[in-house]
Amino acid sequence: PSTPPDGALHLLPVAVSTPAHSSVGEPLSYASSTPLPPGTLVRVPLGAREVLGVVWDAPEHAAPLPPGVQPRAIAGVLEGVAPLAPAWRRLVAFAARYYQRSVGEVALAALPPQLRDLGPQQLARRLRRAPPPVHSPGATENVALSAEQASAVAEIHTQPGPFLLFGSTGSGKTEVYLQCVAQALAADPQAQALVMVPEINLTPQLESRVLARFAPLYGDAAVVSMHSGMTPAQRLKSWLAAHTGAARIVLGTRMAVFASLPRLAVIVVDEEHDASYKQQEGARYHARDLAVWRAREQGARVILGSATPSLESWHASRPPSAGDPRGGRYQRLYMPSRIGAGQLPRVCVVDMGQQPRGAVFSPPLLAAITERVQRGEQCLVLLNRRGFAPVLHCHACSWKSDCPHCSAHQVFHKIDRTLRCHHCGFASRVPRACPACGNLDIAPIGRGTEQLEEQLAALLRNVIVEPAGRAARVGRIDADTTRAKGALEEQLAQVHAGEVDVLVGTQMVAKGHDFRRITLVAAVQPDGALFSSDFRAPERLFALLMQAAGRAGRDALYVAAQGQDAQMWIQTWHPEHPVYAALRRHDWPAFAAQQLAERAEAGMPPFAYQALVRADARTQEAAQGFLTAAAEAARAAQLPGLEQVFLFPPVPLTIQRVAGVERAQMLLESPSRAALQHFLSAWQALLHAERARHKGLVRWLVDVDPQAI
Ligand code: ADP
Ligand code: ZN
Ligand code: ZN
Repeated sequence: PSTPPDGALHLLPVAVSTPAHSSVGEPLSYASSTPLPPGTLVRVPLGAREVLGVVWDAPEHAAPLPPGVQPRAIAGVLEGVAPLAPAWRRLVAFAARYYQRSVGEVALAALPPQLRDLGPQQLARRLRRAPPPVHSPGATENVALSAEQASAVAEIHTQPGPFLLFGSTGSGKTEVYLQCVAQALAADPQAQALVMVPEINLTPQLESRVLARFAPLYGDAAVVSMHSGMTPAQRLKSWLAAHTGAARIVLGTRMAVFASLPRLAVIVVDEEHDASYKQQEGARYHARDLAVWRAREQGARVILGSATPSLESWHASRPPSAGDPRGGRYQRLYMPSRIGAGQLPRVCVVDMGQQPRGAVFSPPLLAAITERVQRGEQCLVLLNRRGFAPVLHCHACSWKSDCPHCSAHQVFHKIDRTLRCHHCGFASRVPRACPACGNLDIAPIGRGTEQLEEQLAALLRNVIVEPAGRAARVGRIDADTTRAKGALEEQLAQVHAGEVDVLVGTQMVAKGHDFRRITLVAAVQPDGALFSSDFRAPERLFALLMQAAGRAGRDALYVAAQGQDAQMWIQTWHPEHPVYAALRRHDWPAFAAQQLAERAEAGMPPFAYQALVRADARTQEAAQGFLTAAAEAARAAQLPGLEQVFLFPPVPLTIQRVAGVERAQMLLESPSRAALQHFLSAWQALLHAERARHKGLVRWLVDVDPQAI
């Protein structure tokens, strides 16, 4: 019935990237002289431009055009690219629905923009026949698994999952991932694997490990990466390889969860607790959560791995108990031991209340660092603030280096004598004198990595590294030192080569890196996170410190030869805090149990579901007024789900003003995920209407399952 008579045009629904706040229905309807199967990639006119689109559905689902309006014609079809699979479209549709965005926006954000400009000849050139697989099984590493690894691999092989692999840092989780990928690929000559890591910085390291393992079996072209640091051309190449099946393994950051993988058999989410799996703009999806959904939908296995799992995954993998005979829906696998009988580092907590006032490095920590450096061992010192000092201050009139556009200070960067706002990027020269009173005596308050590096270099000035007999060297790695392309790799290589004795850095270096000669890690000022208004802050701090500790003593033989334990030092004003007490014992389960009990009591995630609605406007009043009005409209309309959704009053964001824009948010909470979803989708129309009433002067967005409150 949907086939028009000969010569007539087919009306097809096409997903295109429409502006975020357009109220246009979607997908849009276009005319085609031939019937095109759903999933076909096309070029279509949109306004004055020609854009990439995806035929989203069968013709009978095309939205009818208003009477008298002629449909615009599809401009071209991307010949030679197979249509996107139904499973991929279901993933996109689910993500769009769940995160309250349009299908077109999610679909087009997941495709490489360069696809649009691909002519048939270029395409033919790119889909080079895939090189024949090189089969030389002897070339692959033959690793003897530890008992814990072997049992995890066996469970994953025989059970349905999803799996939470709870393994200490250095327990060999990566090896388990590789074995499971190998099994899946060996079982089916077309099977594909997706391996996700939280940080771009960690992809090259993993890539070389994966290539070493799988290139001898399947060829170099079988492994591709996907992350935001790639050029458009590289992105296109990887995408096509995955889509055509030439790539058997895709490695990537959160964006890779949307890769077109028609024969997906296994998904790995490494460091599954990491906050960077949550996209923070546009469709605010959580790549880990989508990975679990996608795996179930496509019948693939999914393995979430971490030494400090998110409390959501931890709770979802709880074992059955008397009061809860079914337990969680995930299977938890344990790998507590470090490979090679290595010990986890000893945790030393320094009570700063007992130390000389004003010392950045307490005397015992400084002594420990000095001793290690003298013996040729390496140390890692962590501080989570880059720059020299968080603020510049005038003692005479109390002037502070505030950002003129944000409710935040401009950070003092000594190296180029600038003041820089870390929120809007506004930069200015450091003034010679106080801009308010002319006082010449303006001074930095607080401390960033740049200052820490300088102070440490001064403190270690006379320390000689044996047996080399040279002076100690301090290096720094943070977002400032690694801006240039290749800078991070170069700096990491220096650390690996032993050219740096003490490395100062932000959380960037706390994650994942396999440093062999670091035997001491120190967090000099971690207390800030204990008093955050965000209920996840203690969980995050524990995870960060545990992961940082995991950088120490990774090479058990080296530690044994040096003759002293690896150590993790923590300087704190609150040595009795439960975070540090649990950390001393490396006891994530105890810490998680305590946090979960608190969350259950307070009705917070994972025992409740949340969403944030944020409004941005010229004034705080307008932003909050918008949220209040939208909430009232929802109550007046008695929206579905409302009886189970609690709407909190609007509040300003912690950083209330950024780049001259005032920001407010409203928290929504419900014991039922379904009720919250119902409510949010019904509320969309009212939010659009409310925005129209505010004459477009307010912008709003919804963040479902927000990771920062
Ligand atoms: P994790 O990801 O749990 O922190 P890794 O997988 O990086 O740990 O393993 C830590 C170190 O132990 C790596 O250098 C790895 O090559 C090595 N390793 C892992 N499994 C084994 C094994 N079965 N035998 C020998 N070495 C192993
Ligand atoms: Zn002043
Ligand atoms: Zn600013």
